[in-house]
Amino acid sequence: MIDLRSDTLTRPTAAMREAMARAEVGDDVYGEDPTVNALQERVAELFGHEAALFTPTGSMANVLAVASVVSPGEEVLCESSAHIARAELGAHGAISGITMRTWTHPRGHVDLAAVESMHAPDMGPFFVRTAAVSVENTHNFAGGTVLPVDDLRALRAWADGTGTRIHLDGARLWNAHIATGTPLADYGRVADVLAVCLSKGLGAPIGSLMVGTADAIAEARVRRKRLGGGMRQVGVLAAAGAYALDHHVERLADDHAHARLLGEALGLDPATVETNIVVVERPDAASFVERAAAEGVRIAAVGPRTVRLVTHLDVSSADAERAAVVLSRLAGR
Ligand SMILES: *Cc1c(COP(=O)(O)O)cnc(C)c1O
Repeated sequence: MIDLRSDTLTRPTAAMREAMARAEVGDDVYGEDPTVNALQERVAELFGHEAALFTPTGSMANVLAVASVVSPGEEVLCESSAHIARAELGAHGAISGITMRTWTHPRGHVDLAAVESMHAPDMGPFFVRTAAVSVENTHNFAGGTVLPVDDLRALRAWADGTGTRIHLDGARLWNAHIATGTPLADYGRVADVLAVCLSKGLGAPIGSLMVGTADAIAEARVRRKRLGGGMRQVGVLAAAGAYALDHHVERLADDHAHARLLGEALGLDPATVETNIVVVERPDAASFVERAAAEGVRIAAVGPRTVRLVTHLDVSSADAERAAVVLSRLAGR
């Protein structure tokens, strides 16, 4: 089976498992796990921020990050198919008391005109105050699209002028970095707070980080414990993440090439496949997924007429080529 349902399906490699086995550990609730501390410092520095916090999931990193810039009763603006709006099961409302309003963009980009028109300053007892804008890069449900860095800079300039904060859901920011060559610190600079995942294309079995100011991270450390996310000798997991940063970032370019090949097989212009996710409209999504599975290629239906394919560490060039042959035949090409 060639499994293209998600880049979360990767399994730790033998070398990653060795790095995990060798990790020095301590109690991370006491702040005494040296491997976790080193990973947090390293990731904070990569993005040009003061501090970072290791979390079990990207969803928890997002919950902590958004709550660090939006208080209960305030709102965050985001794109309508953003992961924080669609795929975190209402956590920001249920846990943090935060509301959302959305704009829609076919590629998940920032719509600054929409943001400007929705933005609500503090109006006392009349309107929900807009505390932050959230952006997602790369954008998952829009098909792994990269947000143009100039759009992010324009949003930053606007946010500075209005006292609005910016949250960046960077679950796959590594892919945006590799696809464009934009330094990670340039992405870090446009955001007040970020969340990044080690467990997607980087191939770690678990782990994400929130990145921000030292004060925001100190506060998030308390909230993380309250949510049940205070972990103990978790350096074995941080070691997997550190290994992934050493060995699995540059190779994301291979995943991107494989995704372009698969997009082309399904009739897309390969130039529209920017990273490792291919989203394609199929009137017969459910049966297309079934027929592909019968031929050894697992893909996902993410809507009645939409299928999604994701390339990753466990999909070789030979796998991608074989999947492209199967899918283009099933698509009648
Ligand atoms: C996967 C993902 C997350 C976090 O997901 P977890 O499964 O909770 O780790 C956050 N944002 C985006 C865009 C994602 O794709």
